[in-house]
Amino acid sequence: MAEFDLIDRIRRRIPARADVALGIGDDAALLQVPAGRQLVVCADTLNEGIHFPAGTAAADIGWKALAVNLSDLAAMGAEPAWCTLSLSLPAPDVAWLDAFLDGFLELAALHRVALVGGDTTRGPLSVSVTAHGFVEPGRALLRGGAGVGEDIWVSGTLGDAAAALALLEQGAPDALRQRLDRPTPRVELGRALAGIATAAVDVSDGLLADLAHVCRASGVGAEVELDRLPASAALRDAVGPEQRRAFQAAGGDDYELCFTAPVERARRIEGAAAVSGVAVARIGRTVGGSHVVMRDGGGRPWAPDKTGYEHFG
Ligand code: ADP
Ligand code: MG
Repeated sequence: MAEFDLIDRIRRRIPARADVALGIGDDAALLQVPAGRQLVVCADTLNEGIHFPAGTAAADIGWKALAVNLSDLAAMGAEPAWCTLSLSLPAPDVAWLDAFLDGFLELAALHRVALVGGDTTRGPLSVSVTAHGFVEPGRALLRGGAGVGEDIWVSGTLGDAAAALALLEQGAPDALRQRLDRPTPRVELGRALAGIATAAVDVSDGLLADLAHVCRASGVGAEVELDRLPASAALRDAVGPEQRRAFQAAGGDDYELCFTAPVERARRIEGAAAVSGVAVARIGRTVGGSHVVMRDGGGRPWAPDKTGYEHFG
């Protein structure tokens, strides 16, 4: 099967979207940004063996490739609109492509994101997605907006994906594996937090590493209470407390939102969580200085052996 046929297979499955004046098929797409809104753009690549285990189902790779990008848009408080897809495939495998699109387009449909273009080449399996969204000027959630004395919040639960990865060989419980393969981008929460939260980041490299980005950009420190980090029942069942804490604090691949807000906005944060149907937990406070300190139940500083996933690290 030729490259053209693969692209046509993709094109035939894309539903129309009113603001796509020209989608797949020409040298570039033509897109209409709504008046009075800023365009938000992000990109993320998934490489086999690094961002997903070799042997991951094609549909899960498709879902995750888009999910990690929608998560970045969510962390900006943006409403997703469009995406492009650059695929590097070892062979023109139609069955693989169809399954990949099943996962990719399932998530795209949930958020009415249109695939408007991309590139298809032969090479080691690699999936690169660029996502575009809109935000009202002045309302984007940046990493640098946190002040001292604010609450630090996190959505959902932490550590599930990291535990799934660690338990892969022995067969991770389905509930954990699902969190690794099909992360849920917190798009509705990000939208609801725009204009309320002061700073936000999505947790992709581990809570400590990503919260440190917020602290660095905002010029604040952070005190986090270990016992407040939210854990799923599946995680509690799968590993002991020490391991669980390490996965929650430093595991990564969570795609939850970590954000800050002044203490008096707690009610509004809880309201935003309620309308978006996701739980949020207050896990600590921003403080002066520049360090992220975690404390255990006895108030003692606690650190995992490893903080976050770093490429080239
Ligand atoms: P060009 O050589 O001009 O870059 P291509 O043959 O690469 O053209 O692409 C033809 C059209 O197909 C373009 O609109 C491009 O955006 C789209 N396209 C190519 N690969 C993909 C893909 N993997 N997903 C979505 N659209 C694609
Ligand atoms: Mg091209």
